[in-house]
Amino acid sequence: MSNGKINVQTENIFPIIKKFLYSDHEIFLRELVANAVDASQKIKTLTSIGENKTEIGELFIDVKLDAANKTLTISDRGIGMTSEEVEKYINQIAFSGAEEFVNKYKDQTEGQLIGKFGLGFYSAFMVADKVEVRTRSFKSSENEAVLWTCDGSPEYQLIQQDKADRGTTITLHISEESAEFLATERISNMLQKYCRFLPVEIKFEEKTINNTQPAWTRKPADLTAEQYKSFYHELYPMAEDPLFHIHLNVDFPFSLTGILYFPKLKRNLEVQKNKIQLYCRQVFVTDSVEGIVPDFLTLLHGVIDSPDIPLNVSRSYLQSDGNVKKISNHILKKVADKLEELFKENRADFEAKWDDIGVFIKYGMLSEEKFFERAKSFCLFKNTQGKYFTFDEYKQLISINQENKDKKLVYLYTSNAIDQHSYIETAKNRGYDVLVMDGQIDTHFVNFIETKIENASFIRVDADVIGKLIHKDEEVISKLDETQQTTLKEFAEKLLNKEQYAINTEALTEQDAPMMITRPEFMRRMKEMAANGGGYDFMMGMNDQFNLVLNTNHPLISKVLAETDTIKKENMFNQAFDLAMLAQGLLKGEALTKFVKRSVELIN
Ligand code: ADP
Repeated sequence: MSNGKINVQTENIFPIIKKFLYSDHEIFLRELVANAVDASQKIKTLTSIGENKTEIGELFIDVKLDAANKTLTISDRGIGMTSEEVEKYINQIAFSGAEEFVNKYKDQTEGQLIGKFGLGFYSAFMVADKVEVRTRSFKSSENEAVLWTCDGSPEYQLIQQDKADRGTTITLHISEESAEFLATERISNMLQKYCRFLPVEIKFEEKTINNTQPAWTRKPADLTAEQYKSFYHELYPMAEDPLFHIHLNVDFPFSLTGILYFPKLKRNLEVQKNKIQLYCRQVFVTDSVEGIVPDFLTLLHGVIDSPDIPLNVSRSYLQSDGNVKKISNHILKKVADKLEELFKENRADFEAKWDDIGVFIKYGMLSEEKFFERAKSFCLFKNTQGKYFTFDEYKQLISINQENKDKKLVYLYTSNAIDQHSYIETAKNRGYDVLVMDGQIDTHFVNFIETKIENASFIRVDADVIGKLIHKDEEVISKLDETQQTTLKEFAEKLLNKEQYAINTEALTEQDAPMMITRPEFMRRMKEMAANGGGYDFMMGMNDQFNLVLNTNHPLISKVLAETDTIKKENMFNQAFDLAMLAQGLLKGEALTKFVKRSVELIN
C-alpha cells in the first residue's frame, strides 16, 4: 500500500473542478465512458498486432447505478493499467492535463466553452466526493490488480487488490449536491445523449444503449437509401422523411465524416434550425454547430464527426480557426455539388422539391458569396403558372416583351397571387410574365438579386398602372383634355384623404379598370425593410402611401365627370373607388360595410 500526494503545481484544482468549470456537470459520464471505449479499442489493436496474447473475450462497457450506496460504476474490459501506469497516467498525465485545462479556462465564462474535452478523468470530481479506480492490466496476473482511491484532495491511496477480470472499474461516490445523478432516468438520458453511437457496446440496466456502427461511419456503397432514411429517423424520431442526403467523407487535409440531410423546410426558416449534431470520434459533443458551419447550413439536419474541430475554445476563436474554415468551405462545396447534381440529373424532381429547398438555396445565396456563385446556375424562378426557370432561361423568356424604354429588363413579381390577382391578370393580358415571390425570404431576395442580375429591375405587379410597370415609349391618347382632368382630380381630392392617396390621371385602355390603386415599389420596399429591422426605422410611423389612378379613357370616368346630380356623381365615384380598393385588398371595416350597402341600393 502506498499513500501519495498528487504533484500540485499551482492551487488546488479540485474545488474549481467541482464548482466553476461547467454548468453541465453531466459531461463527466461522457468523459469516463469515452476512456472506457478507448481502453477497449486499444486491446483490440494490441491483439491484432500481436502484443496481447490473452483472450479478448466479449468487449462491452457496463454502467451500473447503486442508489442505496450512492455509487455509479463504469466498468470496461479494456487494456487496464498496472500500478506504474496508474501512477503515470492518472496521477501525473491526467492530472497535469486537467490542471492545465482548469488554469486555462477557469477565468473564461462558461458560455464560451463549447466542447468540453480536455478535463478527462478528473471530471469525475465534478459529481463525486470520492473516486475509486480498480484496474488490472492485460499484462498483469490477478493478484497484480490495484485500487486507487482519491477523495477530492490532492492526496490519493494506491493498494494491491485482486480483480477477477481484465480492465478498469471506476466507482464514483456521488456527492450530496449531485444526487440527481443517482436517478436511473437521468443516467439513461445522458447515455442516450452522449453515447448512443459509440463504437463499443454499452450496457445500462442490462440493456444495450448504443448503435456501434452508425451510418456515417460506414461506406456509402454499403448503404441503401432505406438505411440512410432509417438512420435519419434514428436521429429525429418525430421528423418527416428527408428530401435527400449528402455523405461527407474526407481524410485530408482534415478528417471529417458525416451525413447531412435536407429536411422538408416548407418555406419555414426558423423552427428547423440547429439540429445538426457534432461528434468527435462518435462521442456526442454538441447540437449547436454555429461557428463551425455557415449559418444557412444550420438549416440542414444530420451528423458531423471530426476530431479536427478544436472543441474547448470559444466560438469567436472557432470562426478564425484554419481547420474550421476549411471544413466549413468543404461542406459548403459538397452541398452545392449535390444540389447541382440533382438539378442536372433530374430537373423535374428538382423542381418538385423546389418549395422545400428554394428557401435554403436563397438563404445561402444571400449570406455566402461563394454559394451564390455556385447556385446562380441552378436557382430557380417560379412564375404564376407554376413553371420554373433558371436565371438565364427567364431572361431569355422576358427579353422580347419586357424591356422598358431605358433598356432595362423588368421582372414583374407578385408577393401574393391571390391578393394581387387583378393586377396579375392585367399584366398577363399584356403578354407579360409574373414571378411568384411569396416566401419568407423573398423580400430580401428580390432586393439582392436585382443587384446581381445585370440591367434588371424588379417591380411588384401592383406597383404602378400597367403602362408604367414596364414603361415603353408608347403614347396613348387621352379622351379627356387637361381642364377636364383637373376638374376630375379636384373632385376626387374633395372626397378622399389627400395624405394617403396621391391622385393621378392616366390614359389607360378602355379594357383596364376605371380606377386603380397602386403601391409605389420604392416606398413599399423601404417600409418592408423597416418592418424587418433593416435600419429604416424612421419609416415605421409613416402612413402607407398609395397612388390612385383615374383612367381617363374609361367610359365610367367620363360619365362621372358629366354627371350633374351631386349625390349620383359621388355614389358613382365612391363605388368605382371601392372596387379599386377591393382589388388591392384594402377595403375593410366601415368602408366595406358602406360599400356593401351602396352596392345593394345600386342593383335594387
Ligand atoms: P485522455 O483520455 O484525454 O488521455 P484522461 O484524463 O481521460 O485523458 O485519461 C488519462 C489517461 O488515463 C488515459 O490516456 C489512459 O491512459 C488512462 N485511462 C483513463 N481511463 C482509463 C480506462 N478506463 N482504462 C485504461 N486506461 C485509462
